[in-house]
Amino acid sequence: MQAKKITIAIDGHSSSGKSTISKQLAAKLGYKYIDTGAMYRAVTLYALRKNLIHQKNVDKDQLINELSNIKISFRYNTNTQRSDTYLNGENVENEIRELEVSNNVSPVATIKEVRQAMVKMQQEMGKEKEIVMDGRDIGTVVFPDAELKIFLTASTQVRAQRRYDELKAKGLNVSFDEVLSNIEERDHIDSTRDESPLVKADDALVLDNSHLNPDEQIKYLLEKVEGIRNAH
Ligand code: C5P
Repeated sequence: MQAKKITIAIDGHSSSGKSTISKQLAAKLGYKYIDTGAMYRAVTLYALRKNLIHQKNVDKDQLINELSNIKISFRYNTNTQRSDTYLNGENVENEIRELEVSNNVSPVATIKEVRQAMVKMQQEMGKEKEIVMDGRDIGTVVFPDAELKIFLTASTQVRAQRRYDELKAKGLNVSFDEVLSNIEERDHIDSTRDESPLVKADDALVLDNSHLNPDEQIKYLLEKVEGIRNAH
């Protein structure tokens, strides 16, 4: 019998390791993986390049006007064995991870029209199920009927250290305090915004991975997936 096709929604705080485990889980299951944070980052990069953001103030009307010109897609990169983010046909995978984008993405992600456009694209990408999608509003807004919803978190210090190590490994020149304050600021904006704030869906399982390695998390998630697939 063919395994039941399901949708897996993984939400959580910035740098809680969502993309690492979502990517691994998708690979284990042979599912598609979509990093929705990358989509908001790509919109932010577009706005920065068009000079639509000044000191974290976004020219909202202009950005809304431009939304139809913003095309975001993902393509598998055989060299890195990961999926790269494309903005209007250009590979922007590295640029969207830089601190300038991180510092401006949360204000962009508060804009209702931006969210509506992204949610529409995300629902389209997941309409055949067999998908792992990570973000902030996947279990609450994008796929409220997802069969498995996870709310991933870890202490702020642990998350800042992870992001700091990641940026350092890429050769970026940042200080730990800079990274920590960016994470705290994004947590605050993401959790208090009016439009689709970061909240745990009522039926999401909380996974605090402060003291868990990726293998332990994958084991836990695969058990949950099996439980759902075998339920009658
Ligand atoms: O996941 P990542 O940290 O790359 O996301 C970048 C930002 O995009 C978040 O801080 C948040 O403001 C926004 N975001 C969102 N909704 C999502 C995914 C990301 O608002 N589904």
